[in-house]
Amino acid sequence: MNHLPNSIEARDAAVHMHPYTDARALQQNGPTVMAKGEGVHVWDTNGKQYIEAMAGLWSVGIGFSEPRLVEAAAKQMAELPYYHTFAMRSHTPAIELAEKLIGMAPKLENPMSKVFFTNSGSEANDTVVKMIWYRANAMGQPQRKKIISRIKGYHGITIASGSMTGLPANHGSFDLPLPGFLHTGSPHHWREAADGESEEDFSKRRAQELEEMILAEGPDTIAAFIGEPVMGAGGVIVPPKGYWAEIQKVLKKYDILLIADEVINGLGRTGNMWGSETCEMQPDIMVSSKQLSSSYLPISAIMLNDKVFEPIADESNRIGTFGHGFTGGGHPVAAAVALENLKIIEERDLLGNVREVGPYMQEKLGALTAHPLVGEKRGIGLIAALELVTDKQAKTALEKPGALGARVGAAVFEAGLICRNMGDALAFCPPMIITKPQIDELVGKVEGALDQVA
Ligand code: PLP
Repeated sequence: MNHLPNSIEARDAAVHMHPYTDARALQQNGPTVMAKGEGVHVWDTNGKQYIEAMAGLWSVGIGFSEPRLVEAAAKQMAELPYYHTFAMRSHTPAIELAEKLIGMAPKLENPMSKVFFTNSGSEANDTVVKMIWYRANAMGQPQRKKIISRIKGYHGITIASGSMTGLPANHGSFDLPLPGFLHTGSPHHWREAADGESEEDFSKRRAQELEEMILAEGPDTIAAFIGEPVMGAGGVIVPPKGYWAEIQKVLKKYDILLIADEVINGLGRTGNMWGSETCEMQPDIMVSSKQLSSSYLPISAIMLNDKVFEPIADESNRIGTFGHGFTGGGHPVAAAVALENLKIIEERDLLGNVREVGPYMQEKLGALTAHPLVGEKRGIGLIAALELVTDKQAKTALEKPGALGARVGAAVFEAGLICRNMGDALAFCPPMIITKPQIDELVGKVEGALDQVA
């Protein structure tokens, strides 16, 4: 342990097991303990300032320490600190937030008509799976339960959402995925296209592989396909040209529902209010969280269209209930904070800022592909990643996967910038209030760290 006994770091390591952490490394080195945040910055307990270029976990869209969200929470706490929405009860914040979300939803052929609240992205996605299974039973199609997601997709870590996630760290030692959860290829053109294969041809090939999987399994056994419009945690993978159009053609052919996991994409991140708009998708279900409350409090929302809702409503009437829900789902304080957060996103035109500053960030990070350690820059709006390599031709990094990413990530952190290393890629997803001079500072720190490691 590099910290004094009884330091805040030593106290943490003594009693606190962390998510997504090498527990032994934590015991040895201790964590960085954060003390405060403001705008795009956070400070640790030693007073060191960082640009939070990941907005926490892709989530603090409006920036840190917004007084209006503090006031909204305090007001709701004082008025009605808790109530639920089970059975025939409700409360105003949940009603107003549901109305707001339906109003903000994309204009779709089958528009979103209902909202169901949960507390996290994972809970929301598990709930979606149960809704789909319940619906299949309601429709007299009990065999239609399989769900297809993608390698490198991220949908959370609970049993069903972890099964839909397509990353090895979430599967192997946890005995996931469960049977009935299938994974098709990722849309990462740079890494996975054949030599000379165009984006369009690669997209067609991915759609053809999907169709082959559906036919092999039996089309009447496949209930839904879930995807992030732009992949986040799997490496910020922007779909290649034609990808979602080709995938949707196949889904339509076999009457398979489309779930858009908007947990990272939603509420402005990609330069439209929803990633489904950016990627021209027609989802039946949309899942939102993270930027929904800028993560000041935990909340997530599932939006569904009538095609999904109506059979569920009939079945709940037949058997007397839709027997699913969380004590904290649609919590009034979290809902009040989310509602205020959405008003701020609109009033301050954060979408306008993403459209203005996003391309600037993409261009500046893109210029780093001239650096010997950068193989690819990916991204859209205010979300991006740099793929680090030591051999540009072979698109490979150091022998141990993730070692180069870890080294550059550590140097970036040392320089006072927080991004996220995902294997050998570095991700950037700053608060949507970030300015061009702050992007200059961010990119300068990345460049300095790359030079240091090269
Ligand atoms: N879906 C997506 C696209 C995500 O990025 C995440 C989290 O990063 C989740 C679901 C899971 O959300 P949570 O961590 O709130 O369970």
